[in-house]
Amino acid sequence: MNLRSPGPTPCPEDVLQAMGRQMIHHRSPAFAEIVGRVTEGLKTIFETKNDLYCLSASGTGALEAMVVNFLSPGDRVFVVSIGVFGDRFATIAETYGADVTKLDFEWGTAADPSAVEQAVSEGGPFKAVLVTHNETSTGVTNDLEAIAAAARRAQPGVLMLVDAISSLGSIRCKVDEWELDVIATGSQKGWMVPPGLAMISISERGWQAYEESTMPSFYFDLGKAKTFLAKGQTPWTPAISIFFALDVALGRLLEEGVDGIIERHQRIADLTRNGVKSLGLELLAVEDRASNTVTAVRVPDGVEWKTLYQMLQDDYDTLIEGGQGPLAGKIFRIGHLGWVTGEDIEITMKALSQALPRVGHQLPEATPAS
Ligand SMILES: *Cc1c(COP(=O)(O)O)cnc(C)c1O
Repeated sequence: MNLRSPGPTPCPEDVLQAMGRQMIHHRSPAFAEIVGRVTEGLKTIFETKNDLYCLSASGTGALEAMVVNFLSPGDRVFVVSIGVFGDRFATIAETYGADVTKLDFEWGTAADPSAVEQAVSEGGPFKAVLVTHNETSTGVTNDLEAIAAAARRAQPGVLMLVDAISSLGSIRCKVDEWELDVIATGSQKGWMVPPGLAMISISERGWQAYEESTMPSFYFDLGKAKTFLAKGQTPWTPAISIFFALDVALGRLLEEGVDGIIERHQRIADLTRNGVKSLGLELLAVEDRASNTVTAVRVPDGVEWKTLYQMLQDDYDTLIEGGQGPLAGKIFRIGHLGWVTGEDIEITMKALSQALPRVGHQLPEATPAS
């Protein structure tokens, strides 16, 4: 199956095989060695010296961990939302009793840093700014560096909590340089690993907020994660097989290097965007902020998405995801993060070029070779 979802993503054979290993005990020196190596490897790709933990959870678990460890009920927080995942972050904070001010931008566009600066400065002070780096529901990457800087101009020292679930490990994200206090990703996105681990880093300022937080937490209490990691352990039984897989995947990623990983995603994303446009399709995202991990495409007029979705799977062995929430039926999304090659994109474009005319979309005349 040509799995072109923005998570879960396909995994290389050696990563899958690592998961077939016999269990080791999570309080053994053998596990301590793996968790130590994995944590250091992740820090290299996060471009951070901050503390970093692997939680046995999906990405949403890490977002919930941010809320319960660094906020208190009644805290005023500012959420920047450009889609489904920004909205989800706001909902989690509200669920735990934070007082949320949300600034929405039109779906398909990126957040405007100067609008963020103005809103934080007029509406503040806030305990934290919550923001999504790469909005997987719309295929847009925010200018996180500029947004963090804008928020800090409006309110120096404000805590930045970042959902980088579909960007870290694929799109440039300089955690220390951009002063991103708490930031998380998930194993099933760009990391070439099955779902099961969420990785989160925490700055000094983050730990200060942890000390001040009165929100109750138990499973996701990051203070416990800190105590246990000092012994090469996790507080609870971790997803050991996913650690095996991540250990192997990180070996590949570190060999390629951060710059290499980012350039590869840029190149594959360009191929995808060009391919889609050559089929006479339109991107949802504004061009200059289109994501390098997921491309959101408008379903052309007259085409029934459900029919195309099913046909791609049945006749072309290709899975592309639809839109979420209000975008359901209006867009589809091609994932191109993690273990993906130009050939995978060519196969996807070929499948689309054959399926689309069958569901009522006429392809543009081929441009004659000059
Ligand atoms: C996938 C994703 C999530 C949710 O992650 P789960 O692992 O499904 O819980 C949150 N935010 C973004 C930006 C994502 O891409």
